[in-house]
Amino acid sequence: MGTHLEEIPVRTTRREEMIDVTTLVRAAVRRTGVEAGVAYIYCPHTTAGVTIQENADPDVRTDLLGHLVRLVPHDAGFRHSEGNSDAHIKTSLVGPSQVVPLDEGQLGLGTWQSVFFCEFDGPRSRKLLVKVLAG
Ligand code: ZN
Repeated sequence: MGTHLEEIPVRTTRREEMIDVTTLVRAAVRRTGVEAGVAYIYCPHTTAGVTIQENADPDVRTDLLGHLVRLVPHDAGFRHSEGNSDAHIKTSLVGPSQVVPLDEGQLGLGTWQSVFFCEFDGPRSRKLLVKVLAG
C-alpha cells in the first residue's frame, strides 16, 4: 500500500490569481486508487493558499481576489522586510488546506464548487499536496 500522498506542481503567472486545480486534484486522487475516505488538500507555502469556491461565474473569482486586494493593499506600511506582508496576510485569510469527502472514487464537491489554488505573491513555481485517507 502506498502513502496516498500526491504532489501537484502549479505554475502561477501573475502576482495574484486563483487557478482552478480541480481536474488535477481529481487525477491525483485517482492515482492513489483510494475509493472512499477524505482528500486532504494542502498548500505548503506561506504566500499561497487553497480554497473551494464557485466555478460557474468567473466574476466570483474576480470579485473575491479583487476584494482581498482592497482589504490588504500591497503597500500598507508593513514591517516585514521582504515586502510581501500583504501576501502572507491574504494567505492566512484563505488558509492552507481543504478537506473533501471521497466516495466511490469521486470527490464530494457540489455542482458549482471547484478547488482553487490561490497565488498571492507570484509568479512562481508552486505545489499542492493531496493526501488521501482511506476509510
Ligand atoms: Zn515574506
